[in-house]
Amino acid sequence: MTIEKLLIANRGEIALRIHRACHEMGIKTVAVHSTADADAMHVRLADEAICIGPPAARDSYLNIAAIISAAEISGADAIHPGYGFLSENAKFAEIVEAHGIAFVGPKPEHIRTMGDKIEAKRTAGALGLPLVPGSDGAISDLEEAKAIAEKAGYPVIIKAASGGGGRGMKVCTSPDELETLMQQAGSEAKAAFGDATVYLEKYLGNPRHIEIQVFGDGNGNAIHLGERDCSLQRRHQKVLEEAPSPILSQADRERIGGVCAKAMADMGYRGAGTIEFLWEDGEFYFIEMNTRLQVEHPVTEMITGVDLVREQIRIAEGKPLSVAQEDLRFTGHAIECRINAEDPRTFAPSPGTVTRYHVPGGMHVRVDSGLYQGYKVPPYYDSMIGKLIVYGRTREGCIMRLKRALQEYVIEGMKTTIPLHQALLEDPQFLNGDYTIKWLEDWLAREG
Ligand code: ADP
Repeated sequence: MTIEKLLIANRGEIALRIHRACHEMGIKTVAVHSTADADAMHVRLADEAICIGPPAARDSYLNIAAIISAAEISGADAIHPGYGFLSENAKFAEIVEAHGIAFVGPKPEHIRTMGDKIEAKRTAGALGLPLVPGSDGAISDLEEAKAIAEKAGYPVIIKAASGGGGRGMKVCTSPDELETLMQQAGSEAKAAFGDATVYLEKYLGNPRHIEIQVFGDGNGNAIHLGERDCSLQRRHQKVLEEAPSPILSQADRERIGGVCAKAMADMGYRGAGTIEFLWEDGEFYFIEMNTRLQVEHPVTEMITGVDLVREQIRIAEGKPLSVAQEDLRFTGHAIECRINAEDPRTFAPSPGTVTRYHVPGGMHVRVDSGLYQGYKVPPYYDSMIGKLIVYGRTREGCIMRLKRALQEYVIEGMKTTIPLHQALLEDPQFLNGDYTIKWLEDWLAREG
């Protein structure tokens, strides 16, 4: 099939990102938005715009009936869900397809499998991916939990099967805490995700977070597009991402990438996906798979030259992968800074009106953001207001360019995390690539 009109079921920078790919492919776009987003940049640029509800996401961006109606009224032949919201909702993908509309994403059954972390781990193990040692599945019995924790070795981490965004996780350092923490994790998970199921795995002391970008055509062909290092996190939320990882050798990349690509081919995976690993002492441990485009996808685009949204759309049209594994080259280095409307020290949200706006430019500098002068950042959604992505032939060159670009970036009218990124880029350990998932929080405690 050929997609002629695509509905963007999202908001913010990613909605704009999808709109841009569509127009570069000659595809018309339909923006759906809440009343709070009527003035958003992607709404202005889209060929058609339909208001689907009030500000609260559950009444607009999560309102499946309203989104399907908008697709039918506008005659859209495809829906791209972006990230967050409905992007990993298997039911939504099924409903979209049942209406004869192409879902720009994986097969619903794969979204479902990977959405349940226990199922995901089981599937990943069966496909040959290396796992974090731990329980084989859900765990509810205390004695059984104790035995597994003993075998894996303390500390262990209790995680929610339906977890996401770093919520519903508890680190447990001794058998006496196990019962209380299992109950706490379960009730937090129940409150956040409506599912109290938890599982247990070894808590790695000081790993890096390294994820592999994969793509499948849905017919048994798949490739990997290398890794992203997303170890710089605060409260399990990524702050800055880079590709390639400063610590991975070409041989390691090919090995883990090959395992991932083969797993996706065997699964018949369709579209974009990210396989997340923790990495410690040269070993990879699968933690989860995200069946969608990631926020940090541009760093992969910068070092491969592949437009991942375009690729997603091509695959949704039933076309083959546009690039073969042997033709993919990983060149240079890219870093993304997530810019949030937050106080750079306290991280308190700081929504407001953009009174002055100037974006950096120049060679190899990319800004993905829906901001413009006079735009009012609504308080109802995520605080990320933009991403600055910079490329360099070397990591050093990339960092120099990034510093220069951050200096140029002017956003007035609210506090942003730009000063945080500037301070990070001066740190000798960061400059050496010498950091793990614990590093940023320690650094903030020191520097703050
Ligand atoms: P979520 O879906 O909530 O983001 P993940 O399973 O991806 O959950 O884990 C999020 C983060 O939590 C990881 O990036 C890492 O920082 C930490 N984490 C998860 N599992 C472990 C583990 N077994 N050992 C140490 N840290 C972990």
